Amino acid sequence: MNSFLFGPDVLPSAAMTVALINTSPGRGGEEGLNDTEILRAMGRETGVFYLPDGSKAEILAMRKLRDRLDEIVKTPENPQRFAMLNELFYSASAIPQIVTHVETPEPHFHYTLEDASYVDHLKGVTAYALARLIIIGEWQRLRTCSGTACNRLFFDTTRNGKRLYCDSRTCGNRIHAARYRVRSAGRSQVEIQLDGAE
Ligand SMILES: [Zn+2]
Ligand SMILES: [Zn+2]
Repeated sequence: MNSFLFGPDVLPSAAMTVALINTSPGRGGEEGLNDTEILRAMGRETGVFYLPDGSKAEILAMRKLRDRLDEIVKTPENPQRFAMLNELFYSASAIPQIVTHVETPEPHFHYTLEDASYVDHLKGVTAYALARLIIIGEWQRLRTCSGTACNRLFFDTTRNGKRLYCDSRTCGNRIHAARYRVRSAGRSQVEIQLDGAE
C-alpha cells in the first residue's frame, strides 16, 4: 500500500507484529494463539515467511514474545522502549544482513541468521518493526482501535494517518450506526457521551 513511505520490509513486519499482539486476551478478548496453524496463517497473510516448527514450547514462547511486544507498545517512554527492544535483539542473537530471496526479491534486511529458531526469527522481525517505526517517526501510526468494546491494535497505513478503527467495516460501522440511531431519536446528550467515550 504505502511501501514507498515505509520501506519494503516495514509493512510485513509491522503487520505480523500487530497480528501477533492481537492474539492476546487483553486485545482480542480471548487467547488467540493456541496452535501453530495460527502462526502459519499470520505469516501467509502478512508476508513473513519464516516457518514455525510446530511444538507446544514454541507456542508458549510466542505467547511470551507477544506479551512482551504489547508491553513495549504500551511503554510511554523511549529509553525503556529502547532497552526492551535491544534486549529482544540481543536475546535473538540478531545480526543484520542484507538479503534477497524468492519470496521477496527486493533487497531487504534479515535480522537473524538463517539457522535461528522460529521464535528468534520472530523476535528479530517484530523488534525490528517497532524500532523502525520509532526511527522513521511513525510510532503514532500504531494505535488501539477507537471502536466500542474493541481493544485491538492496528497499524495505520493511510496517507493522513488519521484512521480510527481496526476495521472500518465492523468497528467503524457499529459506531456510525449507533450515532445515527441516537441522532434520529434526538438524544444529543447520549451522542456527546458516545463521542467523548471513544
Ligand atoms: Zn526476507
Ligand atoms: Zn476495532
